[in-house]
Amino acid sequence: MALIVQKFGGTSVADIARIRNVADRVIRTYDQGKNNVVVVLSAMSGVTDKLIALAHEATENPDPRELDVLLATGEQTTAAILTMMLKDRGYPSQSLLGHQTEMVTDCEYGNARILEIGTHTITRLLDEKKIVVVAGFQGVDIKGNITTLGRGGSDTSAVAIAAVLNADVCEIYTDVDGVYTADPNVCPKARKLKSVSYDEMLNMASLGAKVLQIRSVGFAKKYNIPVHVRSSFSEEEGTMVVNEDSAMEQLVVSGVTQDLNQAQITLKKVPDQPGIAAKIFSPIAEAGIVVDMIIQNTRSTGETDLTFTVPTPNFKQAMEIEKKVAESIGAREVTGDTNIAKVSVIGVGMKNHAGVASLMFNALARENINVILITTSEIRISCAIEKKYAELAVRVLHTAFGLDREE
Ligand code: ASP
Ligand code: MG
Repeated sequence: MALIVQKFGGTSVADIARIRNVADRVIRTYDQGKNNVVVVLSAMSGVTDKLIALAHEATENPDPRELDVLLATGEQTTAAILTMMLKDRGYPSQSLLGHQTEMVTDCEYGNARILEIGTHTITRLLDEKKIVVVAGFQGVDIKGNITTLGRGGSDTSAVAIAAVLNADVCEIYTDVDGVYTADPNVCPKARKLKSVSYDEMLNMASLGAKVLQIRSVGFAKKYNIPVHVRSSFSEEEGTMVVNEDSAMEQLVVSGVTQDLNQAQITLKKVPDQPGIAAKIFSPIAEAGIVVDMIIQNTRSTGETDLTFTVPTPNFKQAMEIEKKVAESIGAREVTGDTNIAKVSVIGVGMKNHAGVASLMFNALARENINVILITTSEIRISCAIEKKYAELAVRVLHTAFGLDREE
């Protein structure tokens, strides 16, 4: 007997037929070896978007508290429907909303963080051999207000519940059959990975592999919960997101990603003095803008150019901030460019393999792709390049690091 948490995403519960499909799978899991099963559901695909649109039709600035009350109905619907089906087929089952699950969050409406989860109710229902169906994405703050966990938050609901229950596995059912070495739409030779480490997944998620909400991976890592990303439309095994092991380290790179959502800002002829970098980046940080890549070219003249990247949606605001900064520190001018992309190679194997960066630069050079900015971490190397080369770069790097699927 095992304790299994199964999360089904929006496309897996898109209509009644698909929810029936989910019921079949849940029942199979429950019947096999008398497993304890907790199901976490998303809203039907498109519903959250529709509810947001509805709120904006009602008022220009929907009240955040009431917006969460509204958004939580998407998951309330699917939880009730699935539970009805399970009961109808003779399986003891009960749905739980955020407050009934005791999913306690902070009060940041629309992007709440989980503070703690009470296990009493779920454990009692499991002891009664019931299939527990939890509405994902929603929680409750200490005052009893309904909150939601941010877009894609059902993943985090599921992994957090798996963590507090110390589940054997958290299965994430989605419309892709696993985590790939690159986006298959960009790189036709991409392969499905059998397993990937938490840290690799954290890097891949943040770089645009849209499989899991990144916060869920943080939870999984912290509590060491194996996460199985798989398709709800097939029986095939997907990808296990787990602690790294020595086999993973044999592969130098396990994924190549692209991020088209970065823009660069350059301050030209900045005085090369102590405290200048702080003056440039403090107001950006105060505005809550996340800086990713930074490069500074020191010159012999006592002046320097400083370039960094910010997410494209923050670009305008960051430019305005830096124009003011430039004036106050006596920099020559500020230029911006949204025409860049960031390509990255990710792999825990990098920790003990030399020459990864040079392999990457050589592969890009062979295609005449100019590297504008570079950042590295223990398990990742990223280059900013001209946007139009992003897809080509992903394919070239995929081949260079030996990731291509054998025909
Ligand atoms: N329904 C929510 C969304 O669309 C949460 C989720 O599906 O994970 O973002
Ligand atoms: Mg999702």
